[in-house]
Amino acid sequence: MTGAGSAPDHRAVASTDVLERRISGSGHRVTAPRRALLDAMQRLGDHFTAEGLVEAAPAVGRATVFRTLRLLLGIGTLCQVVLDDGAIEYRLASGGHHHHIVCSRCGAVNDFASCDIQDLLDELARRTGYDIEAHRLEVYGRCAQCQRELRPAERLPAGG
Ligand SMILES: [Zn+2]
Ligand SMILES: [Zn+2]
Ligand SMILES: [Zn+2]
Repeated sequence: MTGAGSAPDHRAVASTDVLERRISGSGHRVTAPRRALLDAMQRLGDHFTAEGLVEAAPAVGRATVFRTLRLLLGIGTLCQVVLDDGAIEYRLASGGHHHHIVCSRCGAVNDFASCDIQDLLDELARRTGYDIEAHRLEVYGRCAQCQRELRPAERLPAGG
């Protein structure tokens, strides 16, 4: 490996194989329904709703879908994305602590890892007496694609 393959991976963050290894590595069995759900998540792409997953894996019972979502959230393989209207979507986790930047128009989601808020958390812990365990940070805006689409048309036919 001599410095190859540095292209950013914007879509599927991990292959089904990698996801299966994460599940077995955390002491859980990769059952047929779980494998079917991982495949469905890959097909659904960047982010998806629980209902979308139920529909995409018709062979898997609804209760199993929700149980598996909870399992994958618990072992950090999946994250919840809170859209700006409060709706929850799911997204395969890129691994490690990160946050999401979400397009408020088209719902596109990107991860970002930089999270320089330790001072704020320390100050908050001091002020409130909380033992802080976790935090969530979602950032909303318009993605570059949406900005382009919303820009006044630049190629209107000149004249009539
Ligand atoms: Zn995430
Ligand atoms: Zn957008
Ligand atoms: Zn953070």
